[in-house]
Amino acid sequence: MKNILVIHTGGTISMEADTDNETVDIGDTNPMTMVTKDLNNLARLTVREPFQKPSPHITVHDMIELKLLIESECQSKKVDGVVITHGTDTMEETAFFLDLTLETDVPVVMTGAMRSSNETGSDGLYNFIAAIRTAVNEESKGKGLLVVFNDEIHTAKEVTKIHTTNAAGFQSIVSGPVGMITNKSITFHYGCLPQKKIKVKEITKRVALVKAYTGMDSSILEALKDLKYDGVVIEALGQGNLPPSAVRGIETLLTNQIPVVLVSRCLKGIIQDTYNYPGGGKQLKELGVIFCRGLSGQKARLKLLSALTQTDDILVLNDKYFS
Ligand code: ASP
Repeated sequence: MKNILVIHTGGTISMEADTDNETVDIGDTNPMTMVTKDLNNLARLTVREPFQKPSPHITVHDMIELKLLIESECQSKKVDGVVITHGTDTMEETAFFLDLTLETDVPVVMTGAMRSSNETGSDGLYNFIAAIRTAVNEESKGKGLLVVFNDEIHTAKEVTKIHTTNAAGFQSIVSGPVGMITNKSITFHYGCLPQKKIKVKEITKRVALVKAYTGMDSSILEALKDLKYDGVVIEALGQGNLPPSAVRGIETLLTNQIPVVLVSRCLKGIIQDTYNYPGGGKQLKELGVIFCRGLSGQKARLKLLSALTQTDDILVLNDKYFS
């Protein structure tokens, strides 16, 4: 029987609805710890609860705490896999950060719930069991951090929360899920390329995330320079374009050595320097904007935060971490 380290961090999976089903909050005991002894037929479970937070309260420092906890537990005892329960709102961010920085070979699987423990049709225990089954599965090795939700398996790089309330709350919009779960089996549809790791010990810098819109001017970007942000990620328009009125702000950031990373606000596709008009991708690239392919804004922000622990040279950031 395999040894699985279970880490509960909070979220709806650990919460309870009030008697009228109107509001949801943290209760006195985590319902997931109460079921642990019933799951010993799946694996030998060791449970850690470093904190119990709604996931909008999670910071990058909590993510580092989780990374260090997993690494030290994996070094000090025999751990064959890790299951993390987490709130769904920011699950994809913690998943992505751990995928990028965690130094361990064992499968790490995250899950959560859209319905709290005492709601009708609660999906918490179901998803938790599916995550443990995935963590003990031999084929889960070498695929990077996996997110298990509603009978699907997703990679940390691709997965995103797509629904506010539905139990099918997660999707890998571009690639589709990497695998599926039934009551009898776990099937992977394809292999995955692991992310290039970044060695991160602590995060001290600040990176802002801004979404582009019609008529966007330079004021927000210039304010970010005045507020001494260390980097800016912009969810640009289409293939990687901005309104011409925002270009002065980009120039201000870059002349102050503040890296600007561009992703697209489109749900699918990659960005590239195609358009040659003012504010078009070609002009932005020539100015020194870093084009980041295939990540959402929130994940590109975590990647830039991680990369900034290694260098703040814009050319090195571009060539080594975003090309
Ligand atoms: N707001 C909750 C959280 O992210 C939602 C959830 O867990 O599903 O903590």
